[in-house]
Amino acid sequence: MDLIRVATVWLSGCSGCHMSFLDLDEFLIDIADKIELVFSPVMDIKEFPENVDVVLVEGAVGYDEQIHFAQTIRKNSKVVVSFGDCAMTGNVPAMRNPLGNPNVVLTRSYIDNADENNQIPSAEGILPVLLERVRPLHEVINVDYFLPGCPPPADRIKLVVSKLLAGEKPVLEGDDLKNG
Ligand code: SF4
Repeated sequence: MDLIRVATVWLSGCSGCHMSFLDLDEFLIDIADKIELVFSPVMDIKEFPENVDVVLVEGAVGYDEQIHFAQTIRKNSKVVVSFGDCAMTGNVPAMRNPLGNPNVVLTRSYIDNADENNQIPSAEGILPVLLERVRPLHEVINVDYFLPGCPPPADRIKLVVSKLLAGEKPVLEGDDLKNG
């Protein structure tokens, strides 16, 4: 039996969605012989691989490199899941959007709130180039499924992942959407 190639990705988010994924506990052991984890922030792999069957993408798209990364994820993956409210709506990272120019948050962080050496780092490549607006994942690439919650509760993740690994379409309704 071919193993199902699974990836998880962390864009602009707090990693809370990944923590909830790890809350799946025994279920992770149950699926361990069915999947091959090919990319994840819990692994030391730099390049997103080709031929990924299912990828869970946590976080919004907040800076330029994440646009290219999201495009690579889409190109290399059969099923893309928008994983958690930051990916789905922008959520917490998008709280900077009403402030307008992203330099407002850089100024606040590096100048207003700094006790000394108040300056925005300027060496090339040291800071990501922030987008004018933090964007939900589906504004940047097509996604196949949405998995809501901040973070999504482990049971909801289990439901969606179980269906996807079985080659079925996950449907969330009623109590599936309570809490989280
Ligand atoms: Fe963190 Fe909530 Fe965003 Fe997930 S949806 S990355 S838990 S803020």
